Amino acid sequence: MADPPHSNLAGPLRALSDDELLGRLSDVLRQARRVEAEVVAHVGEVDARRLYAREATPSMFAYCTDVLQMSEHEAYLRITVARAARERPVLLIMLREGRLHLSAIAKLSPHLTDDNHLSVLARASGRSKREIQELVAELEPRPDAPPTVRKLPERRAANPPPTTVAAPAQGNGIELGQPPAPAASVPECVARPATVEPLSPARYRVQFTASVAFREKIERLQELMRASVPDGDLARLLEQAVTEKLARLEAKRFGASRSGPARHSRVEAPPLQRYIPAAVRRAVYDRDRGRCRFVDDEGRRCRSRTRLEFHHVHPFARGGRGSLENIRLMCRAHNSLAAERDYGAGHMARVRRTASGEGLVSRPPP
Ligand SMILES: [Zn+2]
Repeated sequence: MADPPHSNLAGPLRALSDDELLGRLSDVLRQARRVEAEVVAHVGEVDARRLYAREATPSMFAYCTDVLQMSEHEAYLRITVARAARERPVLLIMLREGRLHLSAIAKLSPHLTDDNHLSVLARASGRSKREIQELVAELEPRPDAPPTVRKLPERRAANPPPTTVAAPAQGNGIELGQPPAPAASVPECVARPATVEPLSPARYRVQFTASVAFREKIERLQELMRASVPDGDLARLLEQAVTEKLARLEAKRFGASRSGPARHSRVEAPPLQRYIPAAVRRAVYDRDRGRCRFVDDEGRRCRSRTRLEFHHVHPFARGGRGSLENIRLMCRAHNSLAAERDYGAGHMARVRRTASGEGLVSRPPP
């Protein structure tokens, strides 16, 4: 591979073919992982020798943020991983090989023991953040969080912090779920980001900040659903409400209703979609388990469950029919990709231009 360009990093990349570009990206990423492992090893050694004290900083964390200009999050992850790796050097090898990322190691390391670390690390290799959280919940199951609705303190209007303009809800927000551990440094009055956190296998804590209006709707729902949820349990209440909404949306979009005749929708049909009978839509949705069917050259299946469309395996324009065998669920990105392969990229760009009323081709590169 050629040396990376030093000036105008993106310029020369535009001349690469798609395959070259993807190849380069994975090469560069491999290099970055090697370098990251080196950085972490150095952090660990400097930390062990307490060299930060020479630089007039009181801790390794302060040295990383103040002198080395790392973000607080980067500093936290690298120091945590460096300390864990001094005890278990295999962590650095997995980091360098891209089998575990920094966040995964930081999450797992408190739960590693001499007995379990080899099997746990083997299971964690190559997993997503969410899968790692589930693994941690399995290693150290926590009890269910009790349902709570808790009023957050009012923000003092006189002296609002300057950085909270984009915060989703402020002041009289209401938090649903279990309050986090007191160690959390988020100011009380700032709405926390919504979280779904595994507690133990198959149990999750869901936490978010709601408006006053939503709070009132929940109370009305609790009253109306006394018959099926006598204790007004938040989790059961919301699960029933979400289940009902889901069934309605799926029926509308995919004909996936099990009760009564499914309606077919014109509203939701994307521009490239042809009429497909409701029974077929329902069967396709069930067969594909509500998930994109695209599989890449290495056999990996797309994870998308959103923006799903019905794709004709044998193209509609060439006589492909709306039958169960010929229709697959695909996310919008993969349906477009498939259409480009079927009809050619130029044709699809014209179709999209017509559909959206703007010229995608003439749009300046981002
Ligand atoms: Zn997809």
